[in-house]
Parts: sequence; structure tokens; C-alpha cells
Amino acid sequence: MRINLFIDNTDVETDEYTEVRDPGRLDVVVGHVAKGTVQDVDRAVKAAHQAFQSWRKTPLDKRISILLKVADRLESEASSIAEVVSKENGMLLNATKAELSMAITAIRNLADLAGDSFEPRVLEDETGWISVEKKPMGVIAAIVPWNAPMVLTMQKLAPAVVTGNTLVFKPSPFAPMGVTVALKKVAEYFPSGVVNVIHGDGEVGAALTTHPLVRKISFTGGGATAKHVMKAAADSLKGIHFELGGNDPAVILDDANLNVVLPKIVTGAFRRTGQFCYAIKRVYIPQRMYEDAFEKVCELVNNYKIGHQLDENATMGPLNNRQQYENIKELKERIRNSSAKMVELGEKLDPAGWEDGYYLQPAVVRDVEPDHEIVTCEQFGPVLPLIPYRTEEEVIQMVNDSEYGLGSSIWSSDFDRAVQLARQVESGMTFINGAGQTPLGYKYIPFGGVKQSGIGRENSEMIFDEYTETHGINYHKTTE
Ligand code: NDP
Repeated sequence: MRINLFIDNTDVETDEYTEVRDPGRLDVVVGHVAKGTVQDVDRAVKAAHQAFQSWRKTPLDKRISILLKVADRLESEASSIAEVVSKENGMLLNATKAELSMAITAIRNLADLAGDSFEPRVLEDETGWISVEKKPMGVIAAIVPWNAPMVLTMQKLAPAVVTGNTLVFKPSPFAPMGVTVALKKVAEYFPSGVVNVIHGDGEVGAALTTHPLVRKISFTGGGATAKHVMKAAADSLKGIHFELGGNDPAVILDDANLNVVLPKIVTGAFRRTGQFCYAIKRVYIPQRMYEDAFEKVCELVNNYKIGHQLDENATMGPLNNRQQYENIKELKERIRNSSAKMVELGEKLDPAGWEDGYYLQPAVVRDVEPDHEIVTCEQFGPVLPLIPYRTEEEVIQMVNDSEYGLGSSIWSSDFDRAVQLARQVESGMTFINGAGQTPLGYKYIPFGGVKQSGIGRENSEMIFDEYTETHGINYHKTTE
């Protein structure tokens, strides 16, 4: 598969192409992706800026109806897109299909919410009349990572276009193909230039985040990159919206039934091989339940079958890229050399081909100090530390002693107690008895984090504020 740039609804070839390899079978090249230049970025941004002049005037109901058609189209093409994404980013095919279904739901949710969100606020008294109106911003630079590329792309596309903005996407080099294939299909429903896609290395990212016609950068990725993006945005005072990493705690309360909650916690921690921004990354267990919980967690983790992402028998795929793989391997080595105890579990489906991909066994870590690196870092891999605690005060203190604050979860059979504790957690979202949102939560809970986990929110009506400016118009009734 050969993926070009996509500018002004036209495929643009480049002089150089970069190979994309299958992370589960490194000798397999799954495609070639165009390597854009600073000039290509300029053309893409100018095309988006040109398209903005008329797209901003398109009536809201027309923008909503286009979005709904986009959702239908993605639904009809989901299987073929999912296969492309899985091959390039290493996520199990079922996980990618579920991700696409989430992406489609996000589009439909946002189309529905947009219907009620843009009425101007009009007030009048004897002195004057006011109208507070929301206006689109202009060109949005949308930068997405590799780990859940489809849902993260569509969570940016839908609110940006429905509010009248245009976009230039820059997908990750570790998952560039599925996003481009999908966006090209999506772009057919919009006027030329509303949706553009560029690819390339550091200079392309830098050109996009400093381009004077870009009004806002919507970035999902790591905190270190976000700091570069923030600096790049500063020169022309662009708006920024950051969805960053997390180190999500799961707190099991002493009234929880371990047989019920642990399977959900293990899934919440190890899905996507632990490469999920709001995966559970540390589990706090009452001291008296610790031994029992450890044994049960190990039993569950041992059921994983690690193999190629397209192997129907696999329940855990490889890691996405060499850097990720080396990071987690080295982290495991440091854990082995520390006072904590680590058990590596699961079945290797193809031991002979183990070294041909970025495969690692899932691991559970016990007897770990609260300030151990595996507890404090965003490991972003299949390693889960279990930490004992004695009192609620102690666990809340440990949970909040983190620079991150994306998601969190409380596991309990007592609704009031769990909600009371949830309110004390410093994070953007807290799930009770689940490792993610219910359908209601996915539509109405603003998605994002506090502290170094992000600035701003996606989903819910709140996202429309991210992509609009406020314009106040005030008429004076007195003429003298
Ligand atoms: P990175 O931060 O490495 O990269 C994210 C994107 O930024 C890529 O497209 C990358 O492309 C681009 N990029 C890197 N440097 C620059 C730059 N200077 N200017 C402009 N763009 C740049 O993150 P990963 O792709 O490794 O993704 C993993 C991270 O994403 C984890 O921390 C995870 O928690 C977080 N994440 C957060 C989510 C959330 O919603 N809160 C959801 C999913 C993931 P290139 O490499 O070509 O430069």
C-alpha cells in the first residue's frame, strides 16, 4: 500500500517514501508513506485556510448532516480500515474494530450534541441588546498518536468541522496509513480543502505547529512532545488543546468482590498490550486482600495468549515500535534488579517467531514501594504493579501523589462510599466498577486529564468551546 499526502482533496506524491513495518512481523513491509516537506505543509495549511472562508458559512444543519453521512461511510468500510490499522500498529483486529466503532459513535454523539450547542445568547434591557455568539477559529492542526489512531482522529475531526473549522492532520509515523485511508474517504463529503493530511518527520511537525495561519493545535500524545508543541505555539499565540498520558490508579475497596472486579481490572490494564492512555497502570489493594488478589491477578494474566495481531487465537498483540519495546524491556530489567518481585506470564503462541516482532510477556509486580518507578511512571506497556494499602486516607494520598491525572477507578459494592472517594481523586475522570465509560459517559463526560495529563477536554458539549471563539455584540439603545 502506498500512502500519499492529501491536500485540497488531491493525492500528492513526494520524492521520498518511508517504509511502515508490521510490528508483529518485522520483515514484512505493510506500506510506504510519503515524506512531506515544509512546502507541503504550507500548501496544506493554505488549502485549509482557503476552504475555511466558505465552510464557515455552511449552515449548521448541513454540517451535521455531512457528519452523519461520514459516520455511515466509516461504518460500511470499518472492516477493511481496521485491517490496515492493525497491520501497521499491532493492535488486535477485534480491538481495532471496537476502536472504529467507538470512533463512529463519537461522530454521531457530537453531531447530536452540536444541534443544541450554538444558539447565540441574546439578552435585552432598556439600555441595550447583546448577542454572545460562537464562531469557528480557522485552520486546526490535528496531531494524533499511533495507539488508538482512528478514535483519536475522529474525536478531533467531528467537533472541528461541525463548528465550521478546517483541518490539517498529521498522523503518527507508527500508524499513518489507516488514518489517511479513512480521512480520504471522509473528505469526499466535504468541500475541497476542509480535510487535509500530511506526513513527514520533525521538520514537518515543526512547520505545522508554527505556521501563522494555524489558529489552534489539537494534540494527543506524550507530555514531552506536548512541551515542544506548546513552545512552538507560543510565537504566534495559537490555541492549544492537549490530551496527554496518564498513570491511572485503580483502588479496590475492602467491600469489593475480587472474583467480580479483578477480571475487569486485568482487562482494563492489559488491553492493547497496555498501550492505552487511560489503561489501569497501578492497582491499590487492601492489605488483608493482597495475597488473594495477587494470586487471582496472576491466574487471569496467565490466560493471555501473545501472538500476531491478526492471529485469531491471540489475546495480546506486540508492542507498537522499537522505542516502546526497548523502554518496557529495560524497565522490566530494572524491576528485576530492584526489591520488587515480578512474574512474567501468558503463553507465547509462536515461540519460534517471538524475536521477529515486538513481543513481550505481560507481567505482574508485587512487593513494590509506592515510589518505585513502575508505580510513578506512565509505563505504557503490559506491566502491572499491585500496591497494598491500609486506610482510605493513605490510599487517596498515594493515588494523588502523581504528576498525572487522566483517568482513575474505584471498585466497591457500596455506591455512596465509592462516589465519596471518587470525589477526592485528582483526575479528569473516575470510573466506578468499570475501566472506562458507559455509553452515557462516553457521550456526556468531558474526556481529558488534569495536571500533566492535558489541557482541555474532548467529547461532550465542552469540546465545542475548544474549537470556537466567542464573539460578543452589544447594541446601545441610547443615541445621545
Ligand atoms: P508522541 O508524543 O511521541 O507523538 C504524538 C504525535 O506528535 C505523533 O504524531 C508525532 O509524530 C508528533 N510529534 C512529535 N514531535 C512533534 C513536534 N515537535 N511537533 C509536532 N508534532 C510532533 O506520542 P506517541 O505517538 O508515542 O503516543 C503515545 C502517548 O500518547 C502516550 O503518552 C499516551 O498516553 C498518549 N495518549 C494520550 C491520549 C489521551 O487522550 N489523553 C490518548 C492516546 C495516547 P512524529 O513522531 O512524526 O514527530
